[in-house]
Amino acid sequence: MKTILTTSPIEAAEFIRRGGIVAFPTETVYGLGANVFNESAIAKIFEAKRRPNDNPLIAHVGNLEQIKLLVKEITPDARKFIAAFFPAPLTLVLPKAERVPLIATANLETIGVRMPRNELAREFLKACKTPIVAPSANLSGKPSPTDWQAVFEDLDGRIDCLLQGEMTEIGLESTVVDCTSNAPLVLRSGAISLEDLQKIIPETRDYQIKKDESPKSPGLKHKHYAPRARVILVSDFRFQISDSSAFIGLNEPPPDFDLIKICRSVEEYAHEVFAFFRTCDRENITTIYCETVAENGIGAALTDRLKRAAE
Ligand code: AMP
Ligand code: MG
Repeated sequence: MKTILTTSPIEAAEFIRRGGIVAFPTETVYGLGANVFNESAIAKIFEAKRRPNDNPLIAHVGNLEQIKLLVKEITPDARKFIAAFFPAPLTLVLPKAERVPLIATANLETIGVRMPRNELAREFLKACKTPIVAPSANLSGKPSPTDWQAVFEDLDGRIDCLLQGEMTEIGLESTVVDCTSNAPLVLRSGAISLEDLQKIIPETRDYQIKKDESPKSPGLKHKHYAPRARVILVSDFRFQISDSSAFIGLNEPPPDFDLIKICRSVEEYAHEVFAFFRTCDRENITTIYCETVAENGIGAALTDRLKRAAE
């Protein structure tokens, strides 16, 4: 398959209309989209990414009206979060409508719904005239793509079209919140933090996987975000580095690393980390030392991704 590169959201949407799959930028990471009501197009997403078929996709809408096409009901908790945050890097899990095919949700009776705030994403979604299911536009297991070059590296020749935009603003995947239970549950942390959500609904809790329980968010059990290099989390510089090592963090490390990325804030660290992982792999780095950060605000989401990469 030839992958067409374009900067036109109208041209990209044309591929969706013809049953194709299209990578597009959002404020979190690049997504790989298909029409939510086209089962064979959705099957192509799983194939292109080599995604396990028990890992559900998030449905993206260009306006609030489209949410009604996807869900049985917008629960009262979801209503509050929508009013407070949408469009946002926030996915709400709701009971799915009958007409949404089960391949989109990996056989779950719920569906994750998000309205991105990235301008190009919204133009693309508007031109598609249908909700778009989209997981991150990387090969399964690899770090999520934060620029179009990363999408190209993983998926050139495997997808119909790549809508080229800027590097993504946030760099980590959306916060996922289950709004189908008694109190909202954060299934995956992201730029909208637990503290942000609790300002709207104080009962909101973090979901903790109990040992031996199958996770509520199926994607959480899959290996994620991992570069080829070994990832080690460090909180000081009292360690011996091995050959061809890299460092990313907030403080200046000793000079003996082959690659060093010093970030001025936790936000910048989140923005840079996946691209840095990919750079390290390209440069044949064998070990990446990642400095730990305080686990509040987006620091909680960054810590989650770093821990998964280090597993
Ligand atoms: P990705 O877009 O690649 O980050 O993957 C989407 C992730 O969102 C999945 O791996 C799940 O963890 C989560 N997710 C999507 N839909 C649901 C759902 N219906 N219930 C629970 N979690 C979901
Ligand atoms: Mg993903």
